[in-house]
This record gives sequence, C-alpha cells and structure tokens, in this order.
Amino acid sequence: MPVDQIGDVYVAGRWRTSGSERRTAVVDPTTEDPLAEVVSADAADVDAAVRAADAVARDWGATPVVERCRLVVRLAEEIERRASGLTETITRENGTPVAESAHAPTTAAAHLRHCAEVGPSLFAEDVRPNPMAPGDTLVQRRPLGVAGLITPWNYPLSLIVVKLGPALVAGCPVVIKPAAETPLAARMLMDAVEAAGLPAGVVNLVTGDGATGQALVEHPLVRTISFTGSTAVGRSIGEACGRALRPVVLELGGKSPALVLDDADPEVIARSILKVSMRNTGQTCKACTRLIVPNTRRGEIVDLVADVVSSAPLGDPFDPSTFFGPLVSARQRDRVLGYLESGHAEGAKAVVGGGTPAGRDRGFFVEPTVFDDVTPSMRIAREEIFGPVLSVLGYDGLDEGVALANDTPYGLAATIFSRDEGRAAAVAVRIEAGTIGINHYGSNAAAPFAGHRDSGLGVEFGLEGIEEYLALTSVHRLPRG
Ligand code: NAP
Ligand code: MG
Repeated sequence: MPVDQIGDVYVAGRWRTSGSERRTAVVDPTTEDPLAEVVSADAADVDAAVRAADAVARDWGATPVVERCRLVVRLAEEIERRASGLTETITRENGTPVAESAHAPTTAAAHLRHCAEVGPSLFAEDVRPNPMAPGDTLVQRRPLGVAGLITPWNYPLSLIVVKLGPALVAGCPVVIKPAAETPLAARMLMDAVEAAGLPAGVVNLVTGDGATGQALVEHPLVRTISFTGSTAVGRSIGEACGRALRPVVLELGGKSPALVLDDADPEVIARSILKVSMRNTGQTCKACTRLIVPNTRRGEIVDLVADVVSSAPLGDPFDPSTFFGPLVSARQRDRVLGYLESGHAEGAKAVVGGGTPAGRDRGFFVEPTVFDDVTPSMRIAREEIFGPVLSVLGYDGLDEGVALANDTPYGLAATIFSRDEGRAAAVAVRIEAGTIGINHYGSNAAAPFAGHRDSGLGVEFGLEGIEEYLALTSVHRLPRG
C-alpha cells in the first residue's frame, strides 16, 4: 500500500507546500505499518507561520474577548463533530486504547468551553485606588503576542487543546508544533479550526521534529512558549527563553507517588489503581508509578494490585475492552524494556510481567509489570519510565512513607489512599506536588495544574492557565474633577 506523503503546513489559514525535503514516518504502533510520511517543517516554514501569526496579533488581541470566546466555543463544537475521526486517528497513530481516546474530543471540548466561560472575567475593568497618593490606576491585562505551543505524543489532541484554548481566549495567535510521532490528530484539529471560523493566521501548524521545535523557540517574533514534554528538553527550552527574557510555561515529567496509608480501603485501591498508575499504557506524565505501602499490609496490597494489573486486557487498542495497548514507538518500547532489565538486575522482584508479552510478533507491546522489593536507590524508583510499570516500596511509620513520597526531584502529582479523608488531606499538605488526588486521581479544567520542582514552571488549567498568556500594564491616573 502506498504511504500517504504529506508535505504541507498550515499557515495563514491554508495548507501550503513546505520547501523542506525532510520527512518523518508516522507508524501504527499496533501493526508497525507505516501510516504516513509527514514533512518536518524547516526554518522557512516556521518563519512563515510565526509571521502569519504576528501579522494578526494586533487584530486578534483587539477583538472583543466575548467574540474570541464565541469562536473558542465554535471550535469545541467542531471538535465534537469530528469526535469519531479524532478518536480513530489518536488510536491509530499512538496506540491509545479507544476506551481512553474516545474521551479525548469530549474533554477537549469541555476544556475549551470552560476557558470561554471564565476568560472574560480577566478583562473586566480593574481600577485600584492608590494608597500612596491621590488618583487611581487602571490595571490592564494584555495578550503577550505570538505563542509557540510545543507538545508530546502521549495525548495528541488534549495536550494541544489545553494550551490552545487559554491562548485564544487571552488574545494570542499561536504556532503549534506537535510531536513527530503524532502529527495526524493535530492536522485534523486544523480542519476544526477552519470550520469554526477562526480568522486566518490565528492558528498555525508546523509538523516536525526537535529541530522544528527549536526554530520556533528561537524565532524573535515569538513572545511566549508553552511546552509539554520531557524535563531534559524543557530545561533547554527554559534556558533559551531565559536568554531571550521570554515567558515560558513548562509541563514536564514526573515520578509521582501513590501513598497508601495504613487504613486504606483495598476495594478503593483495586478500583482505581489502573487509572492512577497506568493510564494510556503508562504513558501519562502524572501517572503515580511508585506505590508506597505500609510494610504491615504489603503482602495483601501487592497481591491485590498484581491481580488487578494481570487481569486488565492487553491487545488491540481498537477493541473497546482493551486497557493496555502498544507503546507509541519502537524507541519507547526499547526504553521501557531497558527499565525492566534494570529492575531485574538491581534485584527487584517482578510479581506481574517483566518482559515482552508472549505470542505478539507485531506491535510495540510490553508486559504490564509490577515490581515488588524496590529500594529507593534503584533506577525504577527514581527515573520516569513512561510505560506500564509500577514500583512498590515499603515503609514503616507515616513519616517514612511521606519521606519516600517526597524522595524525588519531581513534583507533578500524587495520590493518597485512606478511609479517612481528613487524615489524607493532612498528609497531602506534606507532599511536594502540584496535583494530589485522594482515593482517586482526577483532573479539573477549572483547577490549576502546575508541576513543582523538576516537573516544570507555570500553570495550565483554570484562570491561572489563561493568565500565563497575558502581560500586566498599570495605567496611573490623576484624580478627576
Ligand atoms: P520530548 O522529547 O521532550 O518532546 C516534546 C516535544 O518537544 C516534541 O514535540 C518534540 O519534538 C519537541 N522537541 C524536542 N526537542 C526540542 C528542542 N530542542 N526544542 C524544541 N522542541 C523540541 O517529550 P516526548 O518524549 O515527546 O514526551 C514524553 C515526555 O513528556 C515525558 O517526559 C512526560 O512526562 C512529558 N509529559 C509531561 C506532561 C505534563 O503536563 N507535565 C504531559 C505529558 C507528557 P519530537 O516529537 O521530534 O521529539
Ligand atoms: Mg521526543
């Protein structure tokens, strides 16, 4: 079968042919068949996209916020109209089981609607009397200008939309650079952008690899960067933005704990552990992949979790009953297999999985794995694996449990299991993380999502996420009359 050759980028409201000769293969991780060869946009494409955005920055920023919000709601509707195509594309290009990807268009639309609902409040008149002198000050929130949005492959639609909605409501035109592994859902999103009636140039898309992303970060007309991805790349983007004195939002990796208190309800753990620790076949930044259990209940909890993980169906991600699909790429599979080897070599005990599933000669599958007897110095206890691997660590006494939970350079997420919500909330105060779930792990478009420490800088979600795209100006006025 001939493979789709895709050589265009979305600039100024139309698909234009790129001059770049470089292509990246998009591969179906379930079958290993090539899906498309997609252009890696070069510096000239990035320049054209940024200039297209810059050309409309003033008009878009001056468009009344209620009109911007109306168009953002229209975008939500156009995403919903394409829900089945988007779901299929996400599952095809990155192997996310449909049980998960089917929610992507709905949650994206809900996020956009929330931005449109709360955004106008940021632009309400804000006059502050001056406590130091006569007169007052008009505080204005102004769009920063062109925003570069750079995203990873694990949630190909959602991770773009959580940047796009806030940027548009704030009044910033954007240039999007999706991950090389998953450009197809991003391209489909541009159809929704066009159908929604967003003015040409407000949303632009350049597919490509790290070099494309770097060209975007370094473009002098880009006023802010919002990046989701690895801590290593985030650090280098942060350095570049620091040199340019350009605001940056970095949503990075994690090695989050699921801390089980001694009174935790086993049924609650059984019900939620898969979602808490292994969503999207473990390719989730906020997955709580260190299960920290009291030694007094360790045997019981390890047995229970082993049971849940080994009974979750693995296979074709298009089968609605599948929980574990393939990993996104051969590279990611090899990375995860390397961690499984290191776990074995360092003396952890795989009570479930630990290698490649039998009888699968196609697809980037690994066995969902639970390691017991993990010690805090092992690599599987310290490094982000980004696969279906849970490391169990035991503790004696709550202080040790809390110390283990915090024994990481990251600070993205945590989950606390306890029958006593008040007790769990008191423990939550001691955990260094931006998002904490009690007896489950959720997300809420209205509440800030912010990685602490090596998990990032800045905020997504909530009003605070929109404010990241705004600059403050204070206009001082003399007393009137
Ligand atoms: P990645 O390698 O850091 O890539 C993320 C994005 O940056 C991709 O679009 C990538 O292009 C691009 N990129 C690579 N090098 C660049 C450079 N020098 N300058 C500008 N852009 C560059 O991450 P990944 O491997 O795709 O995704 C997995 C990581 O994302 C994990 O560490 C995970 O924890 C993190 N993540 C964090 C969150 C969060 O909200 N905190 C959410 C999801 C994922 P290519 O596609 O060509 O690599
Ligand atoms: Mg990458």
